Formats: sequence, C-alpha cells, structure tokens
Amino acid sequence: MADNKIHDTIIIGGGPAGLTAGLYAARARMDAVLLERMGFGGQLLTYERVENYPGFPEGIGAYGLAELISAQALRFGLEVRNAEVVGLDVGGTIKKVILTNGTIETKTIIIASGASPTRLGAKGEIELTGRGVSYCAVCDAPFFRDQEVAVIGGGDTAIEEALYLTKFASRVHVVHRREKLRATPVIQEKAFQNEKISFIFSNVVDEIKGGPEGVAGLALRDITNSNLWDLPVTGAFVFVGIKPNSEFIPPEIERNPSGFIYTDQEMATAVPGVFAAGDIRVKELRQIVTAVGDGATAAFNAGRHVENNL
Ligand code: NAP
Repeated sequence: MADNKIHDTIIIGGGPAGLTAGLYAARARMDAVLLERMGFGGQLLTYERVENYPGFPEGIGAYGLAELISAQALRFGLEVRNAEVVGLDVGGTIKKVILTNGTIETKTIIIASGASPTRLGAKGEIELTGRGVSYCAVCDAPFFRDQEVAVIGGGDTAIEEALYLTKFASRVHVVHRREKLRATPVIQEKAFQNEKISFIFSNVVDEIKGGPEGVAGLALRDITNSNLWDLPVTGAFVFVGIKPNSEFIPPEIERNPSGFIYTDQEMATAVPGVFAAGDIRVKELRQIVTAVGDGATAAFNAGRHVENNL
C-alpha cells in the first residue's frame, strides 16, 4: 500500500464528501489517492432511497447514487485504494498517512471519514446486537417480516428508517424521549400518515430484553410519571444520532467535545494542509448535498495549498 511518491493529496473516506473531493482533485490534475476501508458510499449505503438530492425528481436508490458518484470520480482518473488509516503524522510540510500496512506521504490530506451510528447505552443492547438490535434498517428489515419492531429516536434517520421498516414489519413503534419529533416536517408528515407506525413519546429505553433466541421486548420508562412498562417487540432499531469516525486523528487537528473536526469555510482544519469534509466536520446540516459541497471546497483549497506552499 505504501509507495515512494509524495502525493498532492490523500483523501480519507469514500462517501459522498470524499468521492466529490476526489472528482475535483482528479479534474484539477492533482496527484490524488482516495483511501476507503470498505465500499464506496459511506453512510449513504445504510439508506434505501434519497429524496432530497437535486437532479432526481423521483428520488434515487441510495446504492445507485453512490455508484454514480464513484463512477464519475473514476472516469476522471481518481486513484482509489482499499486501505485502513490508523494514524496521521501532520507535524511537517510533508504529511504521513499511516495505514495498517505501510505509510503514504502527501502534501495535503482531506479527511472525509464520516460518522457512524451512536449506541443507545441501554442494558442488553450490546449483547443483542445482531440478534434483534440493529443500526441499519436497509440491512436487517427483511428479517422482521410480519413482526412488531421498535425504532428508537426522533431524528430524520429514525423516521425515515421507520417508514422503510413498514414494508416488512406488521407494526413499527417509534419510541422517542421527547414529546415531539426532531425530524424534518415533510418526513414527519409521511410517518404520521402511515397506519403501520405508532408513536410512543416521552419514553426512554431502560433495557432491551431477550436472550439467545433474540429480542423479546423493551423495558420502557415513561418520563412524565416514571412508570415502567414492557413493549413486546422482536426487533429494536436504534437511530439516536451519529459519532465521528475519528480514531486515527491526532490532537493537533482541533475537534469539538463530541470529536467532530473544526474547519473554516475553506474546509481547512487547525493544521495547514489538512482539510476536512462531510459529516466528520462540525456543521449544522449533515446531508449528502452539503457533503459534496464540502468535498469540492476541500479539494479546491488543497490544490491551492499545494500551489502556494510547496
Ligand atoms: P439526530 O438528528 O441527532 O437525531 C438523533 C435522535 O435521537 C434525536 O431525536 C434525539 O432526541 C435522539 N436521541 C439521542 N440520544 C438519545 C438517547 N440516549 N436516548 C434516546 N434518544 C436519543 O441524528 P440522525 O437522525 O441520525 O441524523 C444525523 C444527521 O443526518 C442530521 O443532521 C440529519 O438531519 C441528517 N439526516 C438527513 C436525512 C435526510 O435529509 N433525508 C436523513 C438521515 C439523516 P432529541 O430529539 O430529544 O435530541
């Protein structure tokens, strides 16, 4: 995986932000390499359809969109490598990207490693993961055909995934800790109109119950009166937010207390020559459309950094 070159930029992550950075870097004729540890698409691949990405008035399948974005970057000659980044040495003008199997040198780095689902932290959650507890409806919904399941969370992801689950489950109970949803109104409206979805507000999950045969139910606590009660379900889909994929990021690259990277409007981090794009950034609106904008901006400014400084 290592080589003897000093690249113009190394892009870490093959989601929409990284692929778009790669597209722009390749078109600018930079010597760019994109590193991805799994497949192209990032979190996009955990969704079924995308309805708010411009240019697709009927929506588009998430997998198909990931394929289109990667095909476009590859058409302009972006080099991609399957590799896992375990560390960065960003102290000098030439930076080092440390992989499990070697080191690559580069003038700039674009971190687009994205985010992953947060765990709920309820008793039983870890033990029952893969046996009824899931963080990806697209991956696991077909196992719950004609069964009752719970979705935990009230954001865009929870409500979109609840809608997807209604294609398989007989009933989807959305369990949310507050008395109203956080999700975008148009997504909420669809869910309120879906007869298979019921809402349990102002409740938190004390425990996910079950055993070797799978999930048997949720122990819920009504926070308005502290009453404990059981919701019998065979699946618990947890969508309570995201955490940054930042294990390899050194402290010089400043991050907020949750671990997301601070950037300026040029996508520059606290370390000159290191940029960040997409969900890994501290930002208000985490969407595909903002991720691709970040990627383009990061690649443009990485190119400018190479021209001006090296
Ligand atoms: P999110 O917007 O942060 O929502 C997380 C939800 O989980 C909130 O409702 C939160 O409750 C709840 N929650 C957090 N911790 C909890 C806990 N310990 N126990 C119970 N509930 C808990 O996360 P997300 O839905 O994964 O979305 C992440 C980002 O991606 C957002 O910016 C979102 O807009 C974006 N996204 C967009 C789309 C789309 O546009 N189609 C689709 C998916 C995701 P509170 O409401 O009480 O805080």
